[in-house]
This record gives sequence, C-alpha cells and structure tokens, in this order.
Amino acid sequence: MELFYTPRASVAGGGLVIAGEEAAHIVTVLRRREGDALAVTDGEGALYDAVIVRATRTEVRCSVRGTRAGGGEPSRRVVLAASLLRNPGRFEMLVEKAVELGVAAVQPIVAERTVPRHGRRERWEKIALAAMKQSCRTRLPRVEEPADFRAFLASPWEEGTLRLIAHEQESRTTLPAAAPPGGGGMAVIAVGPEGGFSPDELAAAAAAGYVAVGLGPRRLRAETAAILAVGLLTFP
Ligand code: SAH
Repeated sequence: MELFYTPRASVAGGGLVIAGEEAAHIVTVLRRREGDALAVTDGEGALYDAVIVRATRTEVRCSVRGTRAGGGEPSRRVVLAASLLRNPGRFEMLVEKAVELGVAAVQPIVAERTVPRHGRRERWEKIALAAMKQSCRTRLPRVEEPADFRAFLASPWEEGTLRLIAHEQESRTTLPAAAPPGGGGMAVIAVGPEGGFSPDELAAAAAAGYVAVGLGPRRLRAETAAILAVGLLTFP
C-alpha cells in the first residue's frame, strides 16, 4: 500500500486536499488521475480512503469515501533523546530508522561531549515524514529543536513516564529488564554522543530519576544504540 499525507486542516466536508511536493509527486511521478483511489493519512492517526476528483501539479483534490483508524503504531509511546552526531548523515539515518521503528518523538540533545551545536530540523522533519509513509504509520513523529542535555533532564513528563538513559557500562540492568516488550505508557530514553555521557551528566540524570540501562555487552555506535533502544521499546 502506498500512503500519502495531508495535514488534518486540509480534510473537511467529505473531502481533502493534498498540496505542495506531495501533489507534484502524485501527479508528475506517479501519474495518478481523476478517479484513482489513494490512501491518505493526516499524521494524527486517521487513514482516509480517498478518490481523486481533480488533480493538478500543485493540488490534488479528493473526495473521502471512508475513514479508518490507522495502524502501525506501537503500544508504548517512546521519546528518543539522542545526542547530535559529528556526521550529520548518521543523525539523519538515526531519525529515519527511529521513525520506522515507531518512535513518537525525537529530541536532539547537545551534551558535554556533543560536537555539533546545531542541526537541520527541517531536513529531519522531511525524513520523518517520508519514513512514516514508508513504514505505513499514521502518526507523524515530532522532531524537536536541539536542546541542552541539562535542560532536557528538567523536562516534565506525564505521570508514570519511564525515564531511561543508555549507558555502555551498565551491565546489571538491561533495557528489556527495565522496560519489557509489549508494555504501554510512555518511555523516554537518552542516548549519548560518540564520546559518551560524562560522569557528571550520568549523575545528573540519576538525580532526575533516569535509570541507566545497558544494551548488551558490545560498545555500540551512538546511532546503533539509539535505533536498537527504540526497537526494543516498541517491540510488541
Ligand atoms: N564513551 C564510550 C562510548 C560511547 S557510545 C567510549 O568512548 O568508550 C555512545 C552512546 O551510545 C553512549 O553514550 C550510550 O548512550 C550508547 N551506548 C553504546 N553502547 C551501549 C551499550 N552497550 N549499552 C548501552 N548504551 C550504549
């Protein structure tokens, strides 16, 4: 199934409109025409069975035949707080894979040993959108502006949120032990930069209620650790 996207605001009165690059792609690349059926998500959990009524390169107007609850969403809502990486391509890959694996939001963080101080949020948002469609999800994950790690530690989360920090030297508590597969609720997991978290940061995280978890006996690259962590947390 090919899935298309339009924001909720573009769905009204038994119809929907797809604009911008998505419309150009549907008309110019996929050569869809009046009368063709499309599956469209609003990125907020709904899936529309739509039929094209009028298609131009800038706008595809559809009538909506039916609305279903979309699939592909995990029972646990996972926020990945991952350090920016020296190589921006690796962070982009991290965003793509985390979205495929069901992450609810990505919070880029700047820790003591993080090398880049800035990121390209617009680009990550595009990658997240493409990955949502590719993986047949119907909720578009948020990608936030990079935040300082200390400020991130002070963020309030809803009652009962599991707070985790991936630490390569943690061998007693593994991630699946702290957050068994199939669980619900919300989990936040922090993953450090190439040089890891500093001892001070690990202590500050512990003081803020974050539980250190291990991801097995190998030292993983930061992006591998992030992807594995999201996969373990969303596994049914
Ligand atoms: N500081 C380390 C490597 C850091 S690896 C060193 O240079 O020796 C980068 C990040 O990936 C870490 O901060 C941690 O969050 C995560 N990570 C890597 N391997 C891990 C493992 N086996 N268990 C848990 N987290 C791991």
